Amino acid sequence: MLPNDTLDQWDRAHFFHPSTHTAQFARGEMPNRIVTGGKGCYIQDRDGNKLLDAFAGLYCVNVGYGRPEIAEAIAKQAAELAYYHAYVGHGTEAAITLAKMIIERAPKNMSRVYFGLSGSDANETNIKLIWYYNNVLGQPKRKKIISRWRGYHGSGLMTGSLTGLELFHKKFDLPLAQVIHTEAPYYYRRQDAAMSEADFSNYCAEQLEKLIQAEGADTIAAFIGEPVLGTGGIVPPPQGYWSAIQAVLKKYDILLVADEVVTGFGRLGSMFGSDHYGMEPDIITIAKGLTSAYAPLSGSIVSERVWKVLERGNDEFGPLGHGWTYSAHPLCAAAGIANLKLIDDLGLVRNAKETGAYFVKKMKEALADHPIVGEVRGEGMLCAVEFVEDKKARRFFDPGKKVGPQIAAALLKQNVIGRAMPQGDILGFAPPLCLSKEEADLIVKATVKATEEVK
Ligand code: PLP
Repeated sequence: MLPNDTLDQWDRAHFFHPSTHTAQFARGEMPNRIVTGGKGCYIQDRDGNKLLDAFAGLYCVNVGYGRPEIAEAIAKQAAELAYYHAYVGHGTEAAITLAKMIIERAPKNMSRVYFGLSGSDANETNIKLIWYYNNVLGQPKRKKIISRWRGYHGSGLMTGSLTGLELFHKKFDLPLAQVIHTEAPYYYRRQDAAMSEADFSNYCAEQLEKLIQAEGADTIAAFIGEPVLGTGGIVPPPQGYWSAIQAVLKKYDILLVADEVVTGFGRLGSMFGSDHYGMEPDIITIAKGLTSAYAPLSGSIVSERVWKVLERGNDEFGPLGHGWTYSAHPLCAAAGIANLKLIDDLGLVRNAKETGAYFVKKMKEALADHPIVGEVRGEGMLCAVEFVEDKKARRFFDPGKKVGPQIAAALLKQNVIGRAMPQGDILGFAPPLCLSKEEADLIVKATVKATEEVK
């Protein structure tokens, strides 16, 4: 390995890091961490520190680090055929097999998978397919997409617009005009605590309906949402939310896109979040857990209903003019096959349910009564701790105090990685699905200590 000084210098001088205060980084005002290895739920850095990664990278290394089965599958594929494209009917055994495996695991009525590389490009694909769909149906006015405040759907032009977090819009001239946002299903932040969860769900559905009526139902193409809000704060939906929302969408014949980039392939303790909450999406976005990030791969799973219209469109207008060079890349597909087999063989969906429930319960028991902890919430292998200055009045800390980042830093000092979520004082956890109860205990203990330190 290169000497530490050289690596640091090159890092500061040449590497443009995503989602980083790049100016501070270049000036050396914030630390870097160079990661050299990983095994199970742990990563190791170049200084020899072993850290429990309670965020699985970016909620993606679902089977854990260092799985030889996936590494070997990628190497074997690279030796046999590193690349061939998927345009005009070409394919590889790996891509075709993976498509079949995905459809077998997907919620009912799903028909075909269009492969991409990232969650962002898969959501871009979804919107193009939806616009195409409406053009084929002779509804060219139906182009607006409704997303939620606090939703996260990527950081491209369209997907950054769909994302309902100001940080991803600021100074980028986003959101684009075709995107509109509606109420986030964030019950805890609702100041009117007198409203029950079910009432709040109905309120969200009413807000959605008002928005549709104000914009004109014949201009709305689709609604996109994550089964559990992820980057916006790890917020499971309030009771009855998805059934109330779906009733409105059905009434106005608006398509539903379930963005399962985080929740797909077991994170909630069900194979898909759509099944977990009784959602009936027309399109599902998948990425992260599809390969556990051993190689970049995403997909848009389209339902039979959407597929039939796309087919009709092709017969009328010719081939679909949409594709990436690396769509269905065979190395990534080989990683996906090995990864999905591992999820089955190791019973990781069940572990996400059982150990996830244990983890969230322990975190609640340890912290729910703490004076600066407003709420501990979670579902499956997702957990969040939300900090408040005044618990009773639900008054939040002044954002300038950066309590969430402070607590994440105190956690890191104990070699545990949690994530200070980008808006609000929320510490998020999304460990690998193979987390053990002992590892869950360790995260809880470290979080309590970190919270005590900052208080
Ligand atoms: N959708 C959701 C729900 C996500 O959480 C993310 C990333 O975190 C994305 C889309 C974008 O995925 P990517 O970062 O792979 O583009």
